[in-house]
Amino acid sequence: MREMSLYKKRLKLVRGKGVYVWDENGNKYLDAIAGIGVAILGHSNEELAIAINEQMKKLVVAGPMFHHEEKDEALEELSKFLSFEYAYFGNSGTEAVEAALKFARLYTGKKEIIAMTKAFHGRTFGSLSATWKKKYRGGFEPLVPGFKHIPFNNIEVAKEAITKETAAVIVEPIQGEGGINVIDKDYLEKVNKLCKEKDILLIFDEVQTGFGRTGEFFAYQHFGIEPDIMTLAKTLGGGFPIGAMVAKKEVADLMVPGTHASTFGGSPLACASAIAVIKTIKEKKLLEKVRKNGKYLREKLEKLKKKYDFIKRVKGMGLMLAVELEMDGKEFYKKCLEKKLLLNCTHGNVIRIMPALTVKKKEIDEAVEIMDECFSSLI
Ligand SMILES: *Cc1c(COP(=O)(O)O)cnc(C)c1O
Repeated sequence: MREMSLYKKRLKLVRGKGVYVWDENGNKYLDAIAGIGVAILGHSNEELAIAINEQMKKLVVAGPMFHHEEKDEALEELSKFLSFEYAYFGNSGTEAVEAALKFARLYTGKKEIIAMTKAFHGRTFGSLSATWKKKYRGGFEPLVPGFKHIPFNNIEVAKEAITKETAAVIVEPIQGEGGINVIDKDYLEKVNKLCKEKDILLIFDEVQTGFGRTGEFFAYQHFGIEPDIMTLAKTLGGGFPIGAMVAKKEVADLMVPGTHASTFGGSPLACASAIAVIKTIKEKKLLEKVRKNGKYLREKLEKLKKKYDFIKRVKGMGLMLAVELEMDGKEFYKKCLEKKLLLNCTHGNVIRIMPALTVKKKEIDEAVEIMDECFSSLI
């Protein structure tokens, strides 16, 4: 049997520790993408390994009809950072987004969802309908009706797009797959105001930006705007699959048993991983580290930009950074791979760098040195 995959030839990884991974031939790589920003505590993190092991021996599964103390604790930990009253646990980003979209329609009684161009929200039918790129959508139509895409940072277009039937606007505060695009604060404030006036829900998809990635616990804190609904996943379990949708109480009151649920979602095992991640972020003071090391990495990338004309800009926040190139990034990506540096090329010409939040200065030096070598070989 062969796995269904987009890739013909892939690196075969056998183990990882911190920011490093090893392939089947014993080659060591610096992983500056951490499973697309997932392994925020690094690979084979001790705290996470212990938490999952202990929980495995205690209680693995409960099912949606039973409660368990790990869920209480996960909710309590989340409540320390979020003034949202309600959480729904699933297993992935796309499930969190599906829940948000279903909620939005249920709560408002309206049908239309407005998303942004270049947005990525997942690959199941609802979230795919909110995802912008043809490459992901093509061949799967008809998608869910009622979705519209508008460009980032143009409030006039947003005003025109909103109708009496608009249920929600869904936004990534920093677009990930779309090329690390940071939304304008001013635009977001205006969209928020429009939503409030017209009884439209504002959904922030923080699947990629949540849990310290940008230097705040959540990206929305940089903008000072609280959404009605937020979706979380990738970073939440540090590698263990867990996703969550959090909502303001008034949004959630309509849910009754059976309205929406997940068999695996929010299992004791998944919750134990989330608890360990949140506690470790606090104990290791990772937010401060992200701010400091994010700034350090950014300065180094800016230096590369000065050195190479074909680097158009450096963008992002915290440790969610990218360099945008004049040309396609594939060649550069391949050269980095040869030199044992794992990065990601998204949106064609954007090189995305999202290492573990535990990354050290000397590891950043090492990564940027390899990038420099690879850029210089492109001239
Ligand atoms: C990755 C991602 C998703 C989808 O998450 P999956 O776990 O792959 O389903 C949704 N939204 C954003 C912003 C993402 O980065």
